[in-house]
Amino acid sequence: MIDIRSMSLDELTKYILSIGEPKYRAGQVFSWLHRGISDFEEMSNIPKGLREKLSMECELNTATVVRRQISKSDGTRKYLLKFSDGNCVEAVFMKYNHGNTVCISTQVGCRMGCVFCASTKNGLVRNLLPSEMLAELFEIIKDTGETVSNIVLMGTGEPLDNYDNVIKFLHLVNDERGLNIGMRHISLSTCGLCDKIEKLSSENLPITLSVSLHAPTDEARSAIMPVNKAYGVRRLIGECKAYFAKTSRRISFEYTMISGHTDTMQRAEELSELLRGFPCHVNLIPLNKISEESLLPSSNEQILKFKAHLEKNGIAVTVRRSLGADIDAACGQLRQNYIS
Ligand code: SF4
Repeated sequence: MIDIRSMSLDELTKYILSIGEPKYRAGQVFSWLHRGISDFEEMSNIPKGLREKLSMECELNTATVVRRQISKSDGTRKYLLKFSDGNCVEAVFMKYNHGNTVCISTQVGCRMGCVFCASTKNGLVRNLLPSEMLAELFEIIKDTGETVSNIVLMGTGEPLDNYDNVIKFLHLVNDERGLNIGMRHISLSTCGLCDKIEKLSSENLPITLSVSLHAPTDEARSAIMPVNKAYGVRRLIGECKAYFAKTSRRISFEYTMISGHTDTMQRAEELSELLRGFPCHVNLIPLNKISEESLLPSSNEQILKFKAHLEKNGIAVTVRRSLGADIDAACGQLRQNYIS
């Protein structure tokens, strides 16, 4: 079956011409697909014969809601979504002052092995297709009845480990005949695959790159993020500087505050030394407790002390507001609870 919703308009046009239909039908079909239809019969201005042909040859790759948790405090909605092969991923809908934001997954599972993350416990199952990433958005838009203006690729999976599908998704979601979400409203989070960061810098996409740093030295970072054994902190920061030099897009560094591990004043000094003079942004993230690990979240007092030390060294820093604290909001927890 043809994965029609993953096609660019050019690819779709070639397909439509190949089945003997006029070129203008491609634009019509493309807009229906990117309105989030779940059945070809919904394409009301497309002749019945073509609708039947499409449903025989193509698949729509929809997602359905398996579980939904709604935060009582702030309305954050966490979803477990299921694809046609039975695999599930998580996605989260959040309301911010700057607009509704959806955090989507890019893979089923993850092979990066970060110790603080529930998504990687069973390794990587498979990559998601561009159409499946779109399906996460369409299902959430349908379920909430709201519009979405921002996307973060920060759910299950390492986006740059599914590079080609993610780049295709970014172009599709940005298409003005579709969801038309501006590249500047999209953030991509990576654990730091240096060769892929270099490749991404050549794509000319004004997205925000968010790098999960979490520790400032090789010893500390390798202990919690196995990817660090392949690249190392100095190489990663060097790659980030090259990315900024090429794209002029400021990088955001994610830094999880783990009590006694990443939140000490020694770490604050090491982090300051690493980033001093580099125009970037550090986002301190209070650890979400995952039940099977012994890691503990930092106290508020320690987070503020850490933040003040970075600021003293001229580094822009914020503490992430924790939305949906009363639901299983940490990366991978809902799916993990479902499959175990
Ligand atoms: S934090 Fe991200 S890269 Fe690391 S294991 Fe979890 S999903 Fe994978």
